Amino acid sequence: MSSNQFLQKIATALQELSREHTAITLGDRSSYLGASDLGGCPRKTVLTKLSPPEHDLTTLLRFKRGHMAEDVLAEAFTKSGFTFERQVEVQSNDFGVPINLHIDFVFTSEGSKIKKILEVKSPDHMPDCPHASWDMQTHFQMGMLAEKYPDYKVSAGILGLQFGKDALQFWNGYEPNMRMFSGLKERAKKIWDFYEKAVQGEIDTEAIDMEVSPLCGYCHAISSCPKFQAFELPELDKDVAEYIELQAQEKRVKAELDSRKEDFLKILQERGSNFKAGGKILRRTECSRSSTDMKALNEFLDSISVDADRFSRSTSFVKFDMVKAA
Ligand code: SF4
Repeated sequence: MSSNQFLQKIATALQELSREHTAITLGDRSSYLGASDLGGCPRKTVLTKLSPPEHDLTTLLRFKRGHMAEDVLAEAFTKSGFTFERQVEVQSNDFGVPINLHIDFVFTSEGSKIKKILEVKSPDHMPDCPHASWDMQTHFQMGMLAEKYPDYKVSAGILGLQFGKDALQFWNGYEPNMRMFSGLKERAKKIWDFYEKAVQGEIDTEAIDMEVSPLCGYCHAISSCPKFQAFELPELDKDVAEYIELQAQEKRVKAELDSRKEDFLKILQERGSNFKAGGKILRRTECSRSSTDMKALNEFLDSISVDADRFSRSTSFVKFDMVKAA
């Protein structure tokens, strides 16, 4: 079996496992609207329901990572003695939309009549504050759970977990907001209406609302998305401005770090030995680096009639830059 065949086998198995996991835990997703459907771009949600995409290996591993994050936390909660339920279903058709929520964790206190939702996220990059789609999802879950259990006080938190990055981030203190909840119900009606009309062939998928965001890069339908046919994407103006501000901050931080490093190096040099401060040992080490004199090497290869190109290797890499628009 070749390496490619071996990798393909892994990808196929993960694809099947992902389908099985979805079927067991979420059922037929084309027959209802879930909380994550509501938080995402309407066009992406509808297209995913009309024709679930085949996911690439990266995406499949990302899904697996999400399930693992929940399993790890469930073990920790059990060990800590918490009483909780996982994948709590809340179904409703009260406002004309088949809703079926699968809430990651619900912690219930029967004595105090409290139900606390915990939504778990395992993002590639931990944001400073929750994405708008996470907020929408969590508020909708709280509203639906509060309607189902009117005698309980419902609240929620979002826990972000990043494997290998030592990052656990908790955004707590979500309380039901009835104004936001009724807005989300209207959003659910609109998305479901788009979906039903698209199923009946009454609208073209281009007519469905699109919400451009930095997460569009992870959308399977980006290549056919009308928003991305245009050269200009004003919806991302704010994100580009934020990126430029972060670059400026990075430069300032880099300059500050360089200056402080210089100060420490000067102290180490004058003192002539290591020292300890702030729980760290600061050291100054003289290093040497050897490099190849390419001019001399090329001259030598030339002298023995060997083409230097014979030893050159080309590798591909991705470069990102921004230039001033006219
Ligand atoms: S690319 Fe973005 S705007 Fe277009 S359908 Fe996908 S998520 Fe929506």
